[in-house]
Amino acid sequence: MSEVLAPLARPVTALRGVGPRHVELLAKLDVATVGDLLLLQPRRHEDRRTGWSIAQLPLKVPATVLGRIVAQGTNYYAKKTKSTFEFILDDGTGRLHCRWWNLPWLADKFRVGDEVFVHGKLLSLKPRTMDHPETEIVETGDEPSAHLHRIVPVYPLTEGLSQRWLRGLMWRALEEYGEQIPERHPTLVPTASSRRLEATNGPERRLEAAGTDAVLSLTRAAAIRSLHFPAELPDTELARQRLALDEFLDLQLAVRARREKLLTNAKSQPCKGDNHLIRPYLAQLGFTLTDSQTAVLREIRADLARGTPMRRLLQGDVGAGKTVVAACTALMALESGQNVALMAPTEILAEQHFRNFTLWLKPLGVSVELRTGSRKTVESRESRVEGRTGQPSALDPRPSTLVIGTHALVEDTFTVGRLGLVIIDEQHKFGVAQRERLLRKGHYPHLLVMTATPIPRTLGLTIYGDLDVSVIAHLPPGRGAIKTFVRGPDKLPKVWAFVRERLAEGRQAYVVYPRVEDTDLKTGTKAVMAEFEKLAKELAPHRVALLHGRLSAEEKDSVMADFRANRVQVLLATSVIEVGVDVANATVMVIENAEQFGLAQLHQLRGRIGRGAHDSWCVLVAAKLTDDARERLQVLEETTDGFAIAEADLRLRGPGELLGQAQSGAQQFKFADLTRDLELAKLARELVCETAQNPEV
Ligand code: ADP
Ligand code: MG
Repeated sequence: MSEVLAPLARPVTALRGVGPRHVELLAKLDVATVGDLLLLQPRRHEDRRTGWSIAQLPLKVPATVLGRIVAQGTNYYAKKTKSTFEFILDDGTGRLHCRWWNLPWLADKFRVGDEVFVHGKLLSLKPRTMDHPETEIVETGDEPSAHLHRIVPVYPLTEGLSQRWLRGLMWRALEEYGEQIPERHPTLVPTASSRRLEATNGPERRLEAAGTDAVLSLTRAAAIRSLHFPAELPDTELARQRLALDEFLDLQLAVRARREKLLTNAKSQPCKGDNHLIRPYLAQLGFTLTDSQTAVLREIRADLARGTPMRRLLQGDVGAGKTVVAACTALMALESGQNVALMAPTEILAEQHFRNFTLWLKPLGVSVELRTGSRKTVESRESRVEGRTGQPSALDPRPSTLVIGTHALVEDTFTVGRLGLVIIDEQHKFGVAQRERLLRKGHYPHLLVMTATPIPRTLGLTIYGDLDVSVIAHLPPGRGAIKTFVRGPDKLPKVWAFVRERLAEGRQAYVVYPRVEDTDLKTGTKAVMAEFEKLAKELAPHRVALLHGRLSAEEKDSVMADFRANRVQVLLATSVIEVGVDVANATVMVIENAEQFGLAQLHQLRGRIGRGAHDSWCVLVAAKLTDDARERLQVLEETTDGFAIAEADLRLRGPGELLGQAQSGAQQFKFADLTRDLELAKLARELVCETAQNPEV
């Protein structure tokens, strides 16, 4: 394969007309080889087949005309600190004035008599004027066929490169190498000839698969040609999809390789456990596991008993009860004499887990430690001496330990022996790289990652293709309902009155703001610290406290402790409370500037209430209620189903927020777009899976 790829791996200097200066400039566009150049994506295309005449130019619509400069000049003013450069273009049908502010050097670029393409929007008719249009001087040089009478590409440029030079270079590169562009995945994407055969055999099947079939009917070489010099404008989109398919195939193959490497190399630690810790743990819980939770634990136990390490994603909506599943999984490993690391994205959540797990596991003789950025290590110390668990190895007679922490666990200073299991909570807040770094602290430990962000299945398979997925499908019984309302800021007095009523009934409340310190006057975005005094007065005599990311760990800790113990009734917070925080008596949440948050994030925030038997209320106060914002927020009024919300978020905002850090792998896509190309992602997965079953191809 490498000899086939070799021509495209040649440096750009292999192309005629590329000197050392060009190499530097092209490097700024991430172009080093001929192959890189061929994948440089045009910013747009310009149809020069018919072209507008100046006399017919439409107002305020981007258009291109070709003409000759008949006059040009520069006006200086404001003591020569400012200038306007202008030329007049004539194409025989009329004249067009083109103006630029404060770019006096343009006077040296253009000469009267130059033939120039001008692309821009016509601002006025009398005289016909364009401001700051894009220009391209026609030269009598190479490749006239690249620039005229066709659809031409317009590339992103860097200072010193001209559009025309780059287009000419691309044209030459395609002439010279176009025939040598190999299929990237020749065994996965059937060759054009075999497809033609198939097509004659089964026309019905072709019709069925029309959507992706058009993409498959294109070779990679043809796609790259159409990407730059399409016969018709829509061809560029098809070309993009074909190249996107290759990118999805790259990703799927990488995922499969990671998986196969794991299966062949990894010998997992035995972590099945013997129930001697789980039994007493479950007995003191005060509730029984739901069927969903039990089913998931059965899957996990089977994983832990296998010879290859578990790689499992646990999905469950906010409040579904993932923590208990994590605890049981940890106990299986601890029972087997292994140590366990649990990583959470915020200090508040890590501390909450630390407190809960200490409460649950310390009596069982398990040692629990906390490691966050601000705390190197805190231990529930008694456990160290309180006897052993499992069968600690002769080399290391300490009892098994559960270490809980933030990303501090990923740092080099943290080491742990006998690491049998890694658990990552709210995994979408971490990247794949962090996950892998934590895993490397042990010898192929088992991995359980948890997320409350449900992602549509195909997207999940694309991003998390190397993980098995378990789902907690139902919330535990006995939860009160959550009612959600969207309100304008004019209704705030009523909202506070409502909050006071709930507080008088003994409930607690969260009030969430997007910012910490200062209100952003331009957008009217409120900040917790700025609102504190006003709200403390508004809600007195109930006690109000502040919680945000700038507090120290100790301060956060004591605020949370006060809130949990109901010494404080109202928590004014930023989105630091988004993940994990669990206080059942808190039944009211007011989110100000709700329009600033994404739907998935609002759903997470709202998940802080509705955790007990009382009914709960969430009020979304939107400062600027545009139609857009209203449509988005209404989704939350209508449903508490995390899955439906995630899909709406995907539709309305794209995959960015939904995927969080997980998309870092996907960001390397040049052509693929996860919002638009899920069909292609699915096709790529099918093609890769098919070959896995037919190893001979
Ligand atoms: P999440 O899935 O969002 O992490 P948690 O694990 O924090 O949810 O659980 C939310 C609440 O539900 C906790 O207070 C937990 O004790 C409770 N819970 C979990 N499982 C059950 C169950 N089977 N029955 C009743 N309550 C449960
Ligand atoms: Mg949780």
